[in-house]
Amino acid sequence: MPELPEVETVKRGLAPVLEGRQLLRVITRRTDLRWPLPEGFGQRLTNRQVMAVARRGKFLTIRLDDDAIWIAHLGMSGRFRIFDGDPPPEEPHDHVIVETDGGLTIRYNDPRRFGFMDLVAGADLDAYPMLASMGPEPLGLDFTAATLAKRLRGRATPIKVALLDQRTVAGLGNIYVCEALHQAGISPKRMARTLQGERAVKLHAAIVDVLARAIEAGGSSLRDHRQPDGALGYFQHNFLTYGRAGADCRRCGRGYPIRQIVQSGRSTFYCSNCQR
Ligand code: ZN
Repeated sequence: MPELPEVETVKRGLAPVLEGRQLLRVITRRTDLRWPLPEGFGQRLTNRQVMAVARRGKFLTIRLDDDAIWIAHLGMSGRFRIFDGDPPPEEPHDHVIVETDGGLTIRYNDPRRFGFMDLVAGADLDAYPMLASMGPEPLGLDFTAATLAKRLRGRATPIKVALLDQRTVAGLGNIYVCEALHQAGISPKRMARTLQGERAVKLHAAIVDVLARAIEAGGSSLRDHRQPDGALGYFQHNFLTYGRAGADCRRCGRGYPIRQIVQSGRSTFYCSNCQR
């Protein structure tokens, strides 16, 4: 499931092939993804020029020359693929197909259809429901240990759950929350309100480090952020906790196994020895 580093890698892959380009054809193979596509979506994108490709949290925001913003969220399984020249035959879950004046075909494929796309006026972007309440960008200047501590103050919810809430900080999902808490040595069960002072400093540093390293891994392992099949945004990671239930914790190295528990319906992986 794509989180901030994957979406950032998609952004970095799309920007050089979309920015400054005109969208010659935009084809939609169905009228809905998670939710219905906006009325006339394909026609409204056709012949528009792309001004800038950006990201907010896990949302891609693609600014067009009529000042509209094309919003795309990858959901659970959404992926963009880029093809140079003649593309291969379409696949079953290719839902949106874009051809640019740069001679490229870009396809959005999403088997589970938890992703969605929308189109809003540029002036309305900040008020867009899922963006308006979103917390700071974790790799932005606004995100500091002090702002993190402030957002956790008084919250009687486990820190794992508080970090998945996009209002606390933007873009984190299950994987990177587990990894950041592990790196910081903080138990996922600890009450969010106790993450003040030195603990907030540690957690802030771990969030920034885990995300920055993942983005770097995403970029360096791929050509133009693209895999050989043209896919963007999914890359191999070596996680220290996520998906390692039963394996030895590499952080404390004392033979303690990584445990798996469920919090708010999501799996949490952690070490009960070195995460307190
Ligand atoms: Zn450990």
